[in-house]
This record gives sequence, C-alpha cells and structure tokens, in this order.
Amino acid sequence: MSESKQLQQLVDEVKTYMKYAVSDDQIEPAAAVIHKYRNSPQVLYLLREYYLALPDAREEPALQIAQLVHHQGVSLFVVSTPSISYLYVSSVHQVVWLGEYKDTEELDPEVLSYFGFDNQEEFLKSCPPVSDLEEYGSNLNGEPSVCPACGVSEGEYHLLGCAVEVCPWCEGQLSKCNCRFEQLEIDVIEKEEELEDFLVLLTAKGRIPFKPQQVPFYPGTSDGLDRDEKTG
Ligand SMILES: [Zn+2]
Ligand SMILES: [Zn+2]
Repeated sequence: MSESKQLQQLVDEVKTYMKYAVSDDQIEPAAAVIHKYRNSPQVLYLLREYYLALPDAREEPALQIAQLVHHQGVSLFVVSTPSISYLYVSSVHQVVWLGEYKDTEELDPEVLSYFGFDNQEEFLKSCPPVSDLEEYGSNLNGEPSVCPACGVSEGEYHLLGCAVEVCPWCEGQLSKCNCRFEQLEIDVIEKEEELEDFLVLLTAKGRIPFKPQQVPFYPGTSDGLDRDEKTG
C-alpha cells in the first residue's frame, strides 16, 4: 500500500473514532483539527489514541496540539480540549496517556531522564501555562521542521526504516533501494542481526540526518526522493 493511501486510511480511522467520541455539534471543529494534521502520522496516531480512549470519558473534541519536548522521534504532547489539557508521550509507534497536563502524577524517571529532566520538579518548571503553549506544526504549511514520517527533528537521524531517510550509497530512498542487500551481500533480510549489521555499515558510511528539503515527495507521489532532489 502506498504511503498516501496508508495516511488517508489513518485519517479516516481517526475521524471514525472521533465521531463516536464527541457530540454532533463538536464534530466540525474536531474534524478541522484532524484535517490540519492529515500529513502528520505522529499527530494522527496521537489523536486516534485520544479518541479511542477518551480520558475521564469526557466527550470533548481535541482542539489544540502542542509539543512540549522531543528527542529522537519521541515527543511529549499536550492535547487540549475546551475544558482540560492532557499530557501524552508519543512516537510513531506508540502513544501513551500520562494524565492531566501540569497535574500529572510523578512521571516515570526514565521518561524524565530521556527528555533530559533530572526530576519532576525540573520538568514542571519547563511546562508553560496552557495559554502559552504553541500550537504544534503552526508552520506545517511551510517546510516541516520535523520529519513527517518518523517525527525526528532537523539534524537528527531518522528512525531506522523511515521512508524519508536518504540512502548514503545511492542517494535514493533508503527503505526502498537495494543497497542494504548489496552491502550485506544477501538477497533478503530475515534476521534481526542482519538489520543490526546493516545499521553498523550504514553508520560507518555516514547516515544522512533529516533536513526539511528531504520531503518534497511526501506524502503523495510514489516517485521517491531520487526524482528531483539529490542530497549529499
Ligand atoms: Zn524520518
Ligand atoms: Zn541505496
């Protein structure tokens, strides 16, 4: 299935859950938010989780998404409804509800240290009031500053397997080109170790970190990166 189809399917799914979750008069504003993030899998997964498991069973639309911190594709997001804000930790693969924003119970020390906070107190100090939160992706119409596929920031390495990562050998799309097989001198990758071996070779060759210019094709055409953009 092409990426654009997958993305469209995800958008439809989120909309379906949303319609079950909010009252009729709230569907329009809720749908507008989903539409705004239609090209951002990370936010769509976040919204899907929100509507699937409405915290406190409040039937309210998610009206604003803000990103507090992010590190290598994992983010702390604040989802705001008309009456409350919630904190979520999210990657493209997993979204976990942490509780009410600024009023969460003690966060897992591992989560805190992952994002560079020594303790809960230090974390809370860096949490602005809800009214000062900046809407996530307010520049989404310009060049994205985070990879729309795996969520890493400009200058960071993509998560392995990200469709946007550029291959340092052929400058094509790393998830699609044949370089991994050629480098490993095998026909298929079956074992976890082979993938790890490839990561070693890839790192030695020099991975290409995310740049906003890498996503001209995303999320629509199937032509891939090598079509009109040579990076390197
Ligand atoms: Zn990426
Ligand atoms: Zn390649």
